[in-house]
Amino acid sequence: MNKPLTGAELNEIVADLNKLSRNLWWCWNQEAQDFFYELSPRGWQNMFHNPVAVLREVSEQELRARLQDRQLATRARAVLADFKSYLADTHTWCHQHAAKLHKNPVAYFSAEFGFHESLPISAGGLGILAGDHAKSASDLGLGFMGIGLFYREGYFQQAIDSNNWQTEYYNPVNPNNIPLEPVLKVDGERLVCTVEIGMNAVDFQVWRVNVGRVPVYLLDTNLPQNEQHFRDLTTRVYGGDSTTRIMQEILLGIGGVRLLRTLGVEPSTFHMNEGHAAFLTLELIREKMAAGKTLAEALVITKQECLFTTHTPVEAGHDRFTAELMNYALQRYLTMLPVPFKDIVALGRVKADDVSELFCMTVLALKLSRAANGVSELHGQISREMWQHLYNVPVEQVPIGHITNGIHLLGWMKGPVRQFWRRRLTDTANAETKTFRDKFGGDWAAALNHADFWAKMTDPTFVSDEELWALRYKLRRELVEFARRKLLLQNQRATQGDFIRFDHFLNPDALTIGFARRFATYKRAPLIFQQFDNIVKLVRDKQRPVQFIFAGKAHPRDDDGKRFIQQIIHLSKHSELAGNLVFLENYDIHVARQMVSGCDIWLNNPRRPLEASGTSGMKASCHGCLGFSILDGWWREGYDGTNGFAISGDSHPDNVEEQDRVDSANLYQTLTEQVVPLFFNRDVNGIPHEWIKRMRLSMATLVSQFTTDRMVKEYTNKYYLTK
Ligand SMILES: *Cc1c(COP(=O)(O)O)cnc(C)c1O
Repeated sequence: MNKPLTGAELNEIVADLNKLSRNLWWCWNQEAQDFFYELSPRGWQNMFHNPVAVLREVSEQELRARLQDRQLATRARAVLADFKSYLADTHTWCHQHAAKLHKNPVAYFSAEFGFHESLPISAGGLGILAGDHAKSASDLGLGFMGIGLFYREGYFQQAIDSNNWQTEYYNPVNPNNIPLEPVLKVDGERLVCTVEIGMNAVDFQVWRVNVGRVPVYLLDTNLPQNEQHFRDLTTRVYGGDSTTRIMQEILLGIGGVRLLRTLGVEPSTFHMNEGHAAFLTLELIREKMAAGKTLAEALVITKQECLFTTHTPVEAGHDRFTAELMNYALQRYLTMLPVPFKDIVALGRVKADDVSELFCMTVLALKLSRAANGVSELHGQISREMWQHLYNVPVEQVPIGHITNGIHLLGWMKGPVRQFWRRRLTDTANAETKTFRDKFGGDWAAALNHADFWAKMTDPTFVSDEELWALRYKLRRELVEFARRKLLLQNQRATQGDFIRFDHFLNPDALTIGFARRFATYKRAPLIFQQFDNIVKLVRDKQRPVQFIFAGKAHPRDDDGKRFIQQIIHLSKHSELAGNLVFLENYDIHVARQMVSGCDIWLNNPRRPLEASGTSGMKASCHGCLGFSILDGWWREGYDGTNGFAISGDSHPDNVEEQDRVDSANLYQTLTEQVVPLFFNRDVNGIPHEWIKRMRLSMATLVSQFTTDRMVKEYTNKYYLTK
């Protein structure tokens, strides 16, 4: 018989579990998630898979009692031991290759961070990328900290009204219920810093998100001593008008530098993820001038410290402000900066003295960075063309490079898929996997990020077609059931009859095509329905059924994007596609994970060259879902003719209508001539060997290449270490 745990032992486990719950490391550790799920399955499901909320739902009395279940206690201890050894690891990639950044870290500024569905402070791909950047920085042991804003109402939740029109609502989050910690001073009081906005000195407090080994600090002006409109500055992601916007950006850029100084941090690089944070350059200039430098000297030194990543060729993605608004929003700050206003405004203009030119945050960031980059090869080239007029040099000499985006692999991999690969990597009977285990010192998670592991995917003795097909079926089934449950919840008027009806929606045997992303119009969500009659024929084919799952949010002020949503939902309810086309509301990280894993095909048809990188397709390959995309952004680099499908070629017509027409025809042609026949070409046991061959090639060539591990290493070697 086992002895019960002592009070002291219980105290320690409970304290450690609370600490673990406030470190997002659990986002990419399956055993940790399984443990919290086990504590309260319903709480886990209903509260966005959030361990902090689960530990508030389960009383301490219950937790202590349940830990007397030896099996559960053993699991808790194993997870906690893994967590501690992760935090204490001194043999990371950066300990070997970038140790000097531990003393002078990279300060990474981003207006949004997408970490997890329980912390909805991201509007889309830019934020997800920032979150994945931080997770990989942690895994690699990088000297790194993030700076962002704490939006207490986050990004909007999407609802669809009876006219199929998107409406927005906001769920205020309670900071005590989500994986955050208040930043305190040594005396235990809240740390409060100040930034000048408009005519006022505005106070802000700070929340720390622990992302494995790295901290991300979120600034929050919601303090009683601030005027209400300043308290509301950090209510919503990109909320309000351009006045709110410029004030948020002053808080992020200038406030962020103030915070770092208060914490005693001397970053070696200030990395601006998009132009939103570019006001940080003004604060760096101010600091240097306060220390006696001239403006010219301050500009040179500041430029040495800064790095800028641009994320879009779409005009609306580049913030521009009038000189009047600049003067208004910065008036108090400008009294501290001994530089004539016209010289400040000139820093954000291509032509310094052109008074008709708006102040542009991208221009400010470009002028004040030692290096700048786009987020894919094609986007680097487009950015050089776009900003050539700023440099007056031949296009190939414009100093904008590129580093292609990636994803945090373990964070995006769905649970059953992590288990699938883990079982393989820990299979003691298999000599091949033993070689891998030995190579990575038994660390299966490290092996999983390595190209050598994925290169084995083309070897049928390593993993058989039958095993891969069983996995695909399991994932598709899970998605279909997830969609049915969600459709029922979406339809609040659902009756018993609807319940049965939704259970007939979608078909677990059908070729499942997914499309989910922001409904920005350049992404052309409804493009495939330009071939409506043909698509109906495809869907109706009993021998070779095809189905579509869509999701995505339009910006609250983007009526064209909302019309796209309306059109697709209308088709899903009232056309011959009903039951085989569904729209899942409220796209977020959780919905994204279900979709990229369960779909067979990930459709992406932006108007080239406007998709700077795109990352959702990168989340698909490790699950055996194949890309089907315009050769834009990352797919132009990833696609090699064998590892997925391409729509149209490596060029595009200049005329937009022409481009839409050509792409829609090519989309349909590739779908019917290549995708559908390959998927339904089965052997006697129903296995599509040729399709699975593509899955293997997709895993072998894409998975380890398009990760933030590779990306953060590139940033480190190319930019962080080269100051
Ligand atoms: C990955 C992801 C995105 C970005 O997708 P793109 O393909 O780059 O448009 C946006 N939103 C969510 C929730 C995501 O998970």
